Amino acid sequence: MIADPVVTRFAPSPTGYLHLGHVRSALEGWRAARASRGRFLLRLEDIDQTRCRDEYAAAILEDLVWLGLSWDGPVRKQSEHLDDYRRALGRLAEMGVLYPCFCTRREIRDEIARGGGAPHGLSGSPYPGTCRGLDQRQRADKQHSGIDYALRLDLARALAVTGAVEWAEEGEDGPRRKLADPTPLGDVVLARKDVPTSYHLAVTVDDAIQEVTLVTRGEDLAMATHVHRVLQALLDLPTPRYHHHQLVTDAAGRRLSKRDRALTIRSMRKSGIAPAEIIDLALGIAPSQSA
Ligand SMILES: [Zn+2]
Repeated sequence: MIADPVVTRFAPSPTGYLHLGHVRSALEGWRAARASRGRFLLRLEDIDQTRCRDEYAAAILEDLVWLGLSWDGPVRKQSEHLDDYRRALGRLAEMGVLYPCFCTRREIRDEIARGGGAPHGLSGSPYPGTCRGLDQRQRADKQHSGIDYALRLDLARALAVTGAVEWAEEGEDGPRRKLADPTPLGDVVLARKDVPTSYHLAVTVDDAIQEVTLVTRGEDLAMATHVHRVLQALLDLPTPRYHHHQLVTDAAGRRLSKRDRALTIRSMRKSGIAPAEIIDLALGIAPSQSA
């Protein structure tokens, strides 16, 4: 049986140089696309203009080419597509599943502490819902006063609209159905006063616009998929399949992070490591095994 061509994407943020963890993610998508004679797309998640730099964006493209991980078609830069996100946000607003939140980070923290909730796991404590109960007049007053606010997904309302939703997870031993349970993430932020999107909304909209059929990303982002699946259902978008892959770890089994500066592809290139060796490292293949 010949599998259908798969459309995958790699979506880094240009807030630093590529490191081994990125290469693993890129490889997962690249290999699935190439194996099926599909397409491997590149997207730059550059919404947060205070942290993103053109220099990093250029370096990401250059490193990918050097590694032999070529992409198909133009690079999609999220900052150039704000209208797409604005439109999706408008639809959600019309459905009544958004509400403005005027809390500061500190207020959210204090609220959680008062409620006795402890931060947990990957996602931290969900937002306690302080602003969900404000009435229309209170909201209008605060919005007109000019203070900053975020737009949050009212998850309970959203789930009342969508009902139960699932996705197909491509595990190491084949596909299985996963039931979306976004409750641990709570009422996530979908936009801010001056920015019509957040990570969750932009990813969901982009995957649909770019017609991605298989999302490959690290298992540290698996929790996000639960809320993305709900957004897809609300916005009537197609559901890609998902493959959440293992993360690259160091010799001691610790996750690599941006703090491991020595492990940027830049610095490895400078020290004379070949692309094939970097690919092996990203896949967790020790040099002795591949020799
Ligand atoms: Zn709030």
